[in-house]
Amino acid sequence: MKIEKDSYRHKGLRKILINSLREKGITDEVVLEAMNEVPRHRFLDTVFDNIAYEDRAFNIGSGQTISQPYTVAYQTQLLRVKPNDKILEIGTGSAYQASVLAEMGAQVFTIERHKNLFTNKDLYALQKYPQIKFFYGDGFEGLPTYAPFDKVIITCAAPFIPPKLVVQMKPGGIMILPLNEYDSQRMIRVTKESDGSISEEHFDKFSFVPMLSGKSK
Ligand code: SAH
Repeated sequence: MKIEKDSYRHKGLRKILINSLREKGITDEVVLEAMNEVPRHRFLDTVFDNIAYEDRAFNIGSGQTISQPYTVAYQTQLLRVKPNDKILEIGTGSAYQASVLAEMGAQVFTIERHKNLFTNKDLYALQKYPQIKFFYGDGFEGLPTYAPFDKVIITCAAPFIPPKLVVQMKPGGIMILPLNEYDSQRMIRVTKESDGSISEEHFDKFSFVPMLSGKSK
């Protein structure tokens, strides 16, 4: 069951969360403003209603999680989203990250490998953001039919930089991904140069659920 309302209490808790993200070092006010608009509690089961605005990851079923708000803010900030950007997301999960990108004016193409998560995605995202297109498939393959993309964001722990996703990026495009490094992941920004070569920038370490190949029933 999902709670329909976005009450003053939810809005107040969201403001406090946004301030805490600012204190933790998120500086892009456009990202923070978008996260202040998206009601995170709507993407979670009602049992999480009182804690939905804590800076934590939560279970969303099928052994998966909605990312911690700090992680969402961090990845989104690195992505340098511009209105009308065409963005490919790997790992729809709850569709919260996709909704933050849509709130920033992006056109989002998001892939989920878990049938249940693909089917049960939150109605709020479906109704509020028609500019999000949902796909059931394997993120390692990307979406060749819809390529090229301005940006790619991977929200599960990638074992390597998926080569097919690099092919599907525009020249000048960027991809943000958490890349496996021992027992956690290093956040990486990959930029595709105009000659097709790539450059990498390395950021902080995070902990994500794994990126697995193939679809799951
Ligand atoms: N962006 C999500 C975070 C979900 S966690 C949110 O805002 O809630 C990561 C998700 O990636 C999980 O739902 C998992 O099933 C999915 N995933 C893992 N490997 C994948 C792959 N190869 N293709 C598509 N999705 C994948």
